[in-house]
Amino acid sequence: MKTNFHTHHELCGHAIGTAKDYVEYAIKSGYDRIGLTDHGPIPRDAMSQDDYFGNYLHLQMNESDFETIYLPDCLQAKQKFQHQIDVLIGLEIEYIPTHKSYLQSLADRLDYLILGVHYFPFQGHMHNVYEWMNSESVQTYGDHVQEALDSGLYRILAHPDIFLMKYHHDLEAIFDTAAIETTHKIIQAAIKNNVYLEINCGGAKREGLHYQNQTRYVYPREEFWRIVATYPDAKVLIGVDAHAPAHLGNPVIEEMKHFASLCGVTWVDNPMIQGRIRFQGNEI
Ligand SMILES: [Zn+2]
Ligand SMILES: [Zn+2]
Repeated sequence: MKTNFHTHHELCGHAIGTAKDYVEYAIKSGYDRIGLTDHGPIPRDAMSQDDYFGNYLHLQMNESDFETIYLPDCLQAKQKFQHQIDVLIGLEIEYIPTHKSYLQSLADRLDYLILGVHYFPFQGHMHNVYEWMNSESVQTYGDHVQEALDSGLYRILAHPDIFLMKYHHDLEAIFDTAAIETTHKIIQAAIKNNVYLEINCGGAKREGLHYQNQTRYVYPREEFWRIVATYPDAKVLIGVDAHAPAHLGNPVIEEMKHFASLCGVTWVDNPMIQGRIRFQGNEI
């Protein structure tokens, strides 16, 4: 079975293509199921103006775009191609502890939510994982992910190892006690809440890090996934994180399967994510 549950949309401002473009490409490439999951709208009052703009949220879909553009576009693509491919509709979205009922209302209306933590509350503001990381922010990231998964809102955790991307000295990667503890914490929270850990295909194109005289992807990170391999109950999938329709045919997907095998990780291509949106009802 060929599937991908992590697919973006031009609405986020850094991807190209509409829902129809991705679905058509998926059909051409032999996919059986595809989940549409653009970056979800973050309410304007969820953080300070500096944090909102600093995390480029003004460039992504807002709540009105979600209702008037994203949902109709996804639904139309789902309906049009329903006999050729199974289309699920979701979002990749941050966990905002102050806005749980808002997140719950999205989860209730969609097939599933992916948790993607690109920033989290740290030292009085929203700290972005692309900026820098130290042992304290690594631990805070782990606590934040654990709380998010315990909320029960999410079915997939995107790039769980993204916290390691900027955890280095002069591109020499750090994998110390803080990183190891955070890794275990995330895996255990995922198992407890029946959440899939994602090996994300988007990191391979970024400049790598050095670790023990080798060049490593910024993510997925071998050190992290070798620990995942020690948990037989951990559920893993591979996510394309497509930001262009052609990414669904990217050779990096095979490279990531290779990577998983190298780490001793078994992944599934048929995750138990039940689509809830049907056309005969009014679920949305
Ligand atoms: Zn993106
Ligand atoms: Zn993504």
